Amino acid sequence: MPLVAMLDGERVDATKHTRESWLALQSSEERRQLVMPLCGVRAVAKARGETKFFAHLSTAGCGVEHGGETPQHLAMKEALALGIDRVPGWHAIIEHPYPSREWIVDVLAESDDGARKVAFEVQLSSQTPDRYASRSQRYFDGGIFPVWLVPRELEYSPIAVPAVVTGFGKSSDIPEDVEQLLRIDVDLNFIQQAKNLDAFIGQLLHRGPHWPKGSPTQQAEARKAEEERRIAQLKAEEAKRAAFELAVQQTNERSAPASVAFGPHRVPADSDIFIWATLNACWKCEEPMLVWAARSPGQGKRWTRVPEVQARDEVGLKRFENRPEIHRVVDRWIKEIKADVPKAVIRLRRTKASGKEYSAFCCPACDAVVGQVFLHRLRPEKWSLISGPEIAAAAARSSKSQPRQRKSAQPRVPPPATLRTVPALDQSPRMVALQHTWAELHSEEGVADARRKFRGTRS
Ligand SMILES: [Zn+2]
Ligand SMILES: [Zn+2]
Repeated sequence: MPLVAMLDGERVDATKHTRESWLALQSSEERRQLVMPLCGVRAVAKARGETKFFAHLSTAGCGVEHGGETPQHLAMKEALALGIDRVPGWHAIIEHPYPSREWIVDVLAESDDGARKVAFEVQLSSQTPDRYASRSQRYFDGGIFPVWLVPRELEYSPIAVPAVVTGFGKSSDIPEDVEQLLRIDVDLNFIQQAKNLDAFIGQLLHRGPHWPKGSPTQQAEARKAEEERRIAQLKAEEAKRAAFELAVQQTNERSAPASVAFGPHRVPADSDIFIWATLNACWKCEEPMLVWAARSPGQGKRWTRVPEVQARDEVGLKRFENRPEIHRVVDRWIKEIKADVPKAVIRLRRTKASGKEYSAFCCPACDAVVGQVFLHRLRPEKWSLISGPEIAAAAARSSKSQPRQRKSAQPRVPPPATLRTVPALDQSPRMVALQHTWAELHSEEGVADARRKFRGTRS
């Protein structure tokens, strides 16, 4: 139901007519010159009750979006125009042809100096989110802020458009005086303080729109940029993870259990501490070094079986492996076996990840850090035991220290089947024959064999 037609290039606004002047127009000779705006199809002045409007004489030949055609649509447009005209410094243009002449704005609010424009679009029928976005974008592109007046909340879309929910729809009762529509409560997705339509129009035109989300295109671009940033971040994390896993793999490839070079020699322990060693070729300078890991059973406890080697993934400023009694055992093992591999040195270093200081194993030749996270991921077969208590003796000591068990009438529980004893220094000719120095392993004839053993490959 258009409210405006053109007569000799002038706008004829139905809302500005009285019943009498409308009747006069309907019977005048001029009525044959009335045309619809933009499409130029001949217009007919009509009335239904108190509602005055124009209609196409024939819709054939019209390719223009004239807007909604229901009486409710028309009433809302009239009410908006009334509300806009009340705001000082502003005026309303009902059914304003958009400058590109492709469609008609339901109600355009224009500041009297022409500098600012707000397009009010009354959308009573449903419309897809894409259509809301593309129609809004046309306004943003033209420097006009669009506002959608809709009966109910818009369906969710990642692209938001400025909307006012009025509850006034295609089948709502039209008040006798359309001005009453300005008093209906509104629900907004912007300008939070306005309670009714009138207050909303006033605030919007006075203070200007506060719409930080930007135009649909800007929102789509921001979403795309955010998505790209997220993908780049995921890729970077994935690359970091892959690099870490590669470093773990390389540390494993560069490590061998001490027994590969020097045979399964163990130093008997006079405490309850197990110590393992691995031979590691420095990732930076390739020089070999001996790295060790030690475990105690914990305060007041004793081992009842040989524990699994466990290089912790995090260590603090002090580390168990740096205690003098542990160093003494490692030194004694090196001396007994005549190992020609130097001990790694323990120094304070910062972790790359958290920047925390910790006692790190470092290469004695070039000072490069053997990252604790990589030692933590060294496979158990890359370590060999170099010292530990005699478990059978430890178990016996343990039972002696628990007299309650002795008093019990129950028979003594036999040690678990998994309980193994750690051999003390094995000097049998077979074991002695297994011992090689690092240099021997790396002699011209032994190097291929050593590499095979050291890298843990069979090729
Ligand atoms: Zn038309
Ligand atoms: Zn090095």
